[in-house]
Amino acid sequence: MDAQQLISMEEKYGARNYHPLDVVIEKGKGVWVWDVEGKKYMDCLAAYSAVNQGHCHPRLIEAMQKQAEKLTLTSRAFRNNLWPLFAKELCELLDYEMVLPMNSGAEAVETAIKAARKWGYKVKGVEQNQAEIIVCNGNFHGRTTTIVSFADDPSSYEHYGPYTPGFKIIEYGDAEALEKAIGKNTVAFLIEPIQGEAGVVVPPAGFLKKAAEICHQNRVLLICDEIQSGLGRTGKMLASEHEGVKPDMVTIGKALSGGMYPVSATLAGSDILGVFEPGSHGSTYGGNPMACAVAREAIKILVEENLLDNAATLGEYAFKELRAMKSPHVEQVRGKGLWIGIVLNENAGGARKFCKALQHQGILAKDTHENTIRLAPPLVINKEELDWALERLENVLG
Ligand SMILES: *Cc1c(COP(=O)(O)O)cnc(C)c1O
Repeated sequence: MDAQQLISMEEKYGARNYHPLDVVIEKGKGVWVWDVEGKKYMDCLAAYSAVNQGHCHPRLIEAMQKQAEKLTLTSRAFRNNLWPLFAKELCELLDYEMVLPMNSGAEAVETAIKAARKWGYKVKGVEQNQAEIIVCNGNFHGRTTTIVSFADDPSSYEHYGPYTPGFKIIEYGDAEALEKAIGKNTVAFLIEPIQGEAGVVVPPAGFLKKAAEICHQNRVLLICDEIQSGLGRTGKMLASEHEGVKPDMVTIGKALSGGMYPVSATLAGSDILGVFEPGSHGSTYGGNPMACAVAREAIKILVEENLLDNAATLGEYAFKELRAMKSPHVEQVRGKGLWIGIVLNENAGGARKFCKALQHQGILAKDTHENTIRLAPPLVINKEELDWALERLENVLG
């Protein structure tokens, strides 16, 4: 079947909750993907940073195949031999006492919200059903009904009410607003250290550190959603490390499985995650042996292939080159590590047009919020491949 037939079929039978570029991919390897006609592209989105380890990493394929032949799912009605190992390794890697495993990112965020509320009632002594969580404008934390209840992008929340109460939105990057918003019922501040879906928005330097201090002084939990920013994307294991901040609770997902399988997790101290008792939360697939086998290997790859250093070094180089590029369309180049938002000016005619032009040049990138081109290639990219991409970006933006 050719690309056009597949696209028509998708449009007819698939719910239209996405607006993809018209490229039908059937194969991937490292930073490269191939469409059904055999045309090769560099993937500069990496499935929203889920494929930091590159497409079809041979070590992940092997881990997955081996585990598939042995045991895939027990449910947590029984114990399995891999969850304890994965839990210990993940806690040691990120320096937390406890971890709760889920599948999608949204579920990890839901877990953090439940944990914070439960902690509020059981530990902080907040009056029942009065807990409040502060979030930021421009946030993206997933698609569940509770999470979209505190989104401020109408396309995320419109027509999904009634909304879950208990959330307050402040300006992203405004520490004073945070201080003012905190009341006696505030249990947590939930934030992305860098906002991904909003278009790689970096808050003012020092903001996260200040926010952590304010949270600490007021006995409010700082929850960092590192589902997109974590696991190497910004050149550190967690983006909050750039400000020397250790969140009370952190959510990770996406690259936790290197694109093989949905695996997410919520980590915190035992004073926080310890509030869950048997039966109070769970997931059929959470912590399954297949997920554990794949995620353990995905983390080993990040460490052993030095992907964090690669993101830091090549990221710095990419920013230098992009900022030096002469373009009548570019207003700002922002981000950290290999996470780049190219903000176009009002007269450029929108980012989607440029993403289509990049597609013709063999680069797949994603427009966000009308005017931003987001670049986030797999972290296995090398200098030669990056130069190849920069040359094409110059063709399109110059
Ligand atoms: C992608 C993302 C999520 C949601 O993850 P899903 O796996 O799509 O549910 C949550 N938070 C952030 C910051 C994300 O980028």
